[in-house]
Amino acid sequence: MADLLKIYKKFYDIYGPQGWWPLSKKKTHARHHSGAPQCYGDRFEIIIGAILTQNTSWINVEKALHNLKKNKKLGRNFIIKMTRKKLAKLIRPSGYFNMKALKLKNAADFFSPVKSAALMQCNDLNYLRSELLAVNGIGPETCDSILLYAFAKPVFVIDAYTRRIFSRLGFIGEKLSYPEWQKFFMDNLKNAGNKTAVFNEYHAMIVAHAKMYCRTKPLCSECPLKKNCRYRQTGKGCLNS
Ligand code: SF4
Repeated sequence: MADLLKIYKKFYDIYGPQGWWPLSKKKTHARHHSGAPQCYGDRFEIIIGAILTQNTSWINVEKALHNLKKNKKLGRNFIIKMTRKKLAKLIRPSGYFNMKALKLKNAADFFSPVKSAALMQCNDLNYLRSELLAVNGIGPETCDSILLYAFAKPVFVIDAYTRRIFSRLGFIGEKLSYPEWQKFFMDNLKNAGNKTAVFNEYHAMIVAHAKMYCRTKPLCSECPLKKNCRYRQTGKGCLNS
C-alpha cells in the first residue's frame, strides 16, 4: 500500500495549511478560509470559481470574478438573468468565455439554495457525483472540486498536477483514467482520519508542490521528495501502470 499519508505529512511540514478555497474579498484580492463555506453566497462563489478555472490559471479566474463582483453580478440570480453575451464579456479573462458563460448559467440553474441545502445533507458520494456530473459543463475534476470545497464532502480531486507528481514519484501511471487515479488515493487514504480536511489540504499542497518544485521542467535537485522519486532516479515516471 502506498504511504500517501507520509507524503501528506511531509507536504504539511513544508507548505503548512493552505486554507483553500480562495474566495474574493470586497475589492480585488483573494482571501482564504478553511472548512465548509459558511453561507450560500460563499458556496456559490466556489462553484463559479471551479468552473471558471477549467483550462486556465487561477490568476485569470480572479480577474473574471473581480469583473463579476465589480459589476455586482457575482450571484446566482444575476447569472440567471444576465444575457449569455453579457456574462461572457465579464468572464472573458478566464478564457473559453462563451462556453463558460453557458456552463455558469447551467450551474446557476442547478445549484439553487434549496438544491444546495439538499446536497449538503446528503452523504451518498455516488449519488452526489451522479447529480453533479449530469449538469452540462461539470466534468469529474470540477465535480469533485465542488463536492470537496463547496460541500465539504470527502472526495479526492485529481488534476494534472496530481498526475504529474505522483506518476513521477512512481506510484501510478499518468495515463490511467480519472476513476483509477481517484480510487488509488481514496483507497490509500482510507485511514486518514478527517478525510474532508485531509483531502482539502492535500490537493491544495499538491498544487503548491507542482508550482514550487515539480514543474513541467522539474527542480529535482532542490525537491524535498527527491530521495524517493522514480523520475529523479531514472529520468522517467510511470505512464500506464
Ligand atoms: S524529485 Fe523532481 S520529479 Fe520528483 S517530485 Fe521532486 S520535482 Fe517532481
